[in-house]
Amino acid sequence: MYIVPEAAIADILTRDAAFDAVENVFAAMSAGDAYNFPVIREAIGHEDALYGFKGGFDGKGMSLGLKAGGYWPHNLAERGLINHQSTVFLFDPDTGKVAAMVGGNLLTALRTAAASSVSIKHLARKDSKVMGMIGAGHQAKFQLRAALETHQFEKVIGWNRNANALSTLADVAAEFDLPFEAVSLEGMVEADVVISITSVFSPIFGAAHISDGTHVACMGTDTIGKQEADTDLVTKATVFTDEVAQSVTLGEAQHAVGAGLKSREDIHELGAVINGTHKGRTSDTEITLFDGTGVGLQDLAVSASIVEIAKAKGIGLEVDF
Ligand code: NAD
Repeated sequence: MYIVPEAAIADILTRDAAFDAVENVFAAMSAGDAYNFPVIREAIGHEDALYGFKGGFDGKGMSLGLKAGGYWPHNLAERGLINHQSTVFLFDPDTGKVAAMVGGNLLTALRTAAASSVSIKHLARKDSKVMGMIGAGHQAKFQLRAALETHQFEKVIGWNRNANALSTLADVAAEFDLPFEAVSLEGMVEADVVISITSVFSPIFGAAHISDGTHVACMGTDTIGKQEADTDLVTKATVFTDEVAQSVTLGEAQHAVGAGLKSREDIHELGAVINGTHKGRTSDTEITLFDGTGVGLQDLAVSASIVEIAKAKGIGLEVDF
């Protein structure tokens, strides 16, 4: 069994490796070569923790396994540890023998950012100039960096409930020599691409904040009851997702579908666009919306890539298990 500890991930995982792994696995899911197992998520009644498993099997990329972990809300304040904790386990699909254990914390941020950037590559207008960010929490800087590495933008604008936190996004924009401007939510109409990554349970933006032709990646809604975008925007947009079953139950589309404003058949797989079986964006005025719910196969694909690079670089530890 190969072990890649959390501390080694930053030196191993490149943006290209994460992007390619996620793009390939979305394509494999849409082609029917890969599928996610039902998600388990439990409040364990200890330390207010939420713990669970996300797993799957990719018969094309040949990755089998699961990410185990969750959210321990008191970690940071009481122990100086980050609140989200996870570990990925990979198994040999031919034998069932455990093949690798990979730190899953940074990986989660990078695979989530890779998902929105894959959506930008395939759904945003090629002439997009202004990148808009809604939210400036832990995930946001990874999201912005991946977006700026994917497409040549000319300017970044951002909104956050607490405007002070926007300095982290301004720093990322500066890494790319791009100007950054803090805006009101109404100011988001300037953006050609918008990423929302907040943990809200009531919509904070809608159709009035998004111009025609914009690509919106809604990345914060990954649980029943959460909602970032008003149903008026989801209804108006052409909606794509990583996995339709998650999108309509725990993703951003859950509310529009639940209210009968969109049907399950109106939600399309991003993988189909990657595979060329869905045409994707059809005009410069269409609003496209990617409902990024986060699937276990993303974790497995990126972990498999990490193990491959770690072995080649001699990083990590081989254990006879
Ligand atoms: P965080 O706690 O670091 O940041 C939360 C963000 O939400 C901040 O910008 C905060 O200002 C904003 N926010 C919270 N309450 C708000 C309110 N009432 N009004 C306006 N803004 C509010 O969290 P994070 O780690 O950055 O994660 C953000 C979200 O992304 C979470 O919902 C998390 O579950 C989700 N997430 C999704 C995936 C995926 O694959 N789709 C992966 C990881 C995390």
